[in-house]
Amino acid sequence: MTSSLDQSRVELPDPICAACGHALKGARTSAVCPECGRPLVDVLIREKGRIAIGRRYASAARVGSLPLLAIALGPSADGKPGHARDDESICKSRRPMTHTLIDITPRITPNMQVWPGDTALSREVLCTIESGASITLSALRATVHLGAHADGANHYGARAASIDAMPLERYIGACHVVRANVARSARVRAVDLNTPLEALHHPRVLIYTGTFPDFENWSSDFAALDPALVDQLADRGVTLIGIDTPSVDTQESKDLPAHQRFLARDVSILEGLRLAHVAAGEYELIALPLPLVGFDASPVRAILRPLH
Ligand SMILES: [Zn+2]
Ligand SMILES: [Zn+2]
Repeated sequence: MTSSLDQSRVELPDPICAACGHALKGARTSAVCPECGRPLVDVLIREKGRIAIGRRYASAARVGSLPLLAIALGPSADGKPGHARDDESICKSRRPMTHTLIDITPRITPNMQVWPGDTALSREVLCTIESGASITLSALRATVHLGAHADGANHYGARAASIDAMPLERYIGACHVVRANVARSARVRAVDLNTPLEALHHPRVLIYTGTFPDFENWSSDFAALDPALVDQLADRGVTLIGIDTPSVDTQESKDLPAHQRFLARDVSILEGLRLAHVAAGEYELIALPLPLVGFDASPVRAILRPLH
């Protein structure tokens, strides 16, 4: 949509909701129309007597905190309130991110299982309010590959970037959640994904395998990633891949071929995500690692917000 509107020459009437016609003048805090509850993604403005047919224009204007993605101008011949055509599909395709947060972080408890031989979580309580202290204070000891976590490249590459040096922007932004039909202990290939590679256009992809369903009961036969899939996704511009298992390689793997492709293609890794309750689709991912200087990983609080 291109804007040919010279707003300086047109005095615009007050905006109304494209879905129900409710006047939006004064709307400041709500992300939805106060009348019909639809997201304020498309606002129709009619200018009396100038243009016979309503037209849409891109707009940088905002109502409340929301951008108006399109403005239609022009009177309706019969004087009815402005009405945007195909409102339903517009709302579906341009709905702003909702405030729904989907937590994809497994709960961190002492019962959470860690990689065989790695350091499980323990909490040392120094003092508590219940026992008379003025504060409750505790320390934790655990592997940094704890539950949902980001790998530093130095975890699998000599002299590669530690977690504090990984590019932060990779861990926040638009992502696809895809589901894989894959056997236990197998590696996910492109053909196993329920979404074709060609449909993936965001730089982040999270893959649900369902092969590590319980973080308190270790399954050693979880699925991993085919190194070729890492290359195929990198070819499409993907810079971060996440998985719902403890590793992008199988538990028995010694040469870590998937990790090595992540290193070679400079793609970042999220492991240990909880995705069983997440439908395939497009989301905003937020999963920022801590700046643990020199460390080989960091736990993350990983959340998704629906994009549609
Ligand atoms: Zn890890
Ligand atoms: Zn890893």
